[in-house]
Parts: sequence; C-alpha cells; structure tokens
Amino acid sequence: MYQNKKIVRHLALLLSFGMLFLMLYLVSFEATHELHECSGQDCPVCHELQIAEQLTRQCSAFAAASACSIFMVVYIKQISTTFFCSFQEHNLILDKVRMDD
Ligand SMILES: [Zn+2]
Repeated sequence: MYQNKKIVRHLALLLSFGMLFLMLYLVSFEATHELHECSGQDCPVCHELQIAEQLTRQCSAFAAASACSIFMVVYIKQISTTFFCSFQEHNLILDKVRMDD
C-alpha cells in the first residue's frame, strides 16, 4: 500500500514536470519564431506556431482543471477531517458511558 502511494506520487511529480517542460518549450518556441520571415500562404513556421498556440491553450486549461481538482480534494479532505473530529468528540467511549447496566 505504501509502495503504491510512493509510485503514484512519483508519477504525479513526473507528469507535472513533463507538463511544465512542454509548456516552457511551447512558449519559448512561440517567442523565438514570432518574428520569422513568412513565406506567405502554407508557411510551415506559421503552421507550427498555430499548433504550439493551440497546445499551450489546451495545457493551460488542463493545468487550471488540475489545480481546481487538487484544491477541491484538499478542501473536501480538510472539511471531512474537521467534521469527523468534531463528531468523535461525543462518542460513548470518550464520554465513558457504561452500556452494561
Ligand atoms: Zn509564416
């Protein structure tokens, strides 16, 4: 069980670094090829720039959705922990109620 958590944590870290590398590569590609000598219609650089811009937008949307999901998971976990901790303050064992009489 602990090994699975460790593997999932490493995979998540690897995926996040991969996404970061991809976004930085796409942004640097767009920045370096922004002022190119355009050959007109059917320019391969313009085509690559459109693809890079589209991928950047998709990666940004994915990152925003991931950030919202992580925030919701952490928030729900915090709320449930607080709820169950407050619920456990009044159980029979902690209140030392005898059930045998
Ligand atoms: Zn061009």
